[in-house]
Amino acid sequence: MSEPTDRPMADATRVVTAGRRKEWTQGIVSAPVWRASTILYDSVADLRAGAKRDPHHRLFYGRKGTPTQWSLADALTSLEPGAEGTFLYPSGVAAIAAALLSVLSPGDELLLVDSAYDPTRSMATGLLARLGIATRYYDPMIGAGIADLIGDKTRAIFMESPGSLTFEVQDVPAIVAAAKARGVVTLLDNTWATPLCFPAIAHGVDLSILACTKYIVGHSDVMLGSVTAAPGHFARLRDTSFQLGQVTSPDDAWLGSRGLRTMAVRLAQHRDSALAIARWLTDRPEIATVLHPALPSCPGHEYFVRDFKGATGLFGFVFAGGDDAARAAFIDTLELFGIGYSWGGFESLAIPIDAARYRSVTTRDDAGPMVRLQIGLEDAGDLIEDLERGLAAFREVRG
Ligand SMILES: *Cc1c(COP(=O)(O)O)cnc(C)c1O
Repeated sequence: MSEPTDRPMADATRVVTAGRRKEWTQGIVSAPVWRASTILYDSVADLRAGAKRDPHHRLFYGRKGTPTQWSLADALTSLEPGAEGTFLYPSGVAAIAAALLSVLSPGDELLLVDSAYDPTRSMATGLLARLGIATRYYDPMIGAGIADLIGDKTRAIFMESPGSLTFEVQDVPAIVAAAKARGVVTLLDNTWATPLCFPAIAHGVDLSILACTKYIVGHSDVMLGSVTAAPGHFARLRDTSFQLGQVTSPDDAWLGSRGLRTMAVRLAQHRDSALAIARWLTDRPEIATVLHPALPSCPGHEYFVRDFKGATGLFGFVFAGGDDAARAAFIDTLELFGIGYSWGGFESLAIPIDAARYRSVTTRDDAGPMVRLQIGLEDAGDLIEDLERGLAAFREVRG
């Protein structure tokens, strides 16, 4: 058998072959867990030569990684055509922090999408503010209009598309074009789409961030993050991450690689079930709006159709009236949907979303309370029956 080459291949093939270089796997199908802190050298001369070698992809000291982490990082790079490299982090939030700190310095300004994940907002108003980095929020639907917000101090634009709470799909190519014209760096939280549905670097994004905790791992049992960089952005990302002492455990990286191998088939099932359920909800009288990027009722649906290769399994909906108690009755009645944060695992989840709380420059005018569903790998028909029971409980409390 020959080693896989760089020739173009479908995503399902890529996730199976990626990162399995023989020097790391030693011929074992999956790169094993290489645990290490100390690496031993043959001589003083060898030790000194080791310090001068590029620490990436060469054993040097455990904090700089082993073949287990490099295998996953390389696999993620190869899912993003045009990317230079990937660094792994012990969580998605750690990945967001390192990406931002690799770009921003005191006195700089960050443009942050108003629909961003709440911990990203907290990082901007907390850590970044303390370092003298200002944040301006922008409307997720701003598109090319972002050009008007770019000032002399603007150093970076952070996007999340679709937003993981309210699902607005951003016009990423228009924002990237405006940023490039002014020498501004673009970052995208690509956790919802993954590179399989939205190859971010190919769309001109400079730093593509994943909470691998979600679809890469896929089993709700590991915290993991990654940042994949376009050419010219990787060295600074890696230096910043080493200076922060970031290292992901080889065991967690191994579980990430294990998850990645089945990601294409898992995502296809998440996509099909989520779309079937979203369509079913659209026809229900209790529901005012379904916020699924593949449906026209979702803001930015036209960009989804234009730019994405597919959808995944997370979406929201807004009740037609009702209050917090009716929504709680709906969620509490569900038997197959767990109540908990995170998503991307094999199991379905439902949580209440109070989007207006996390807004600075845009407002929401929702007809009723909002719910976010993560559609897992259970049978879609069973999930619909469960939702049916939940809606009956909603009606009973709403009156
Ligand atoms: C979960 C999530 C993160 C953070 O990932 P963790 O691994 O939980 O730290 C970042 N962005 C989005 C969109 C997420 O859903």
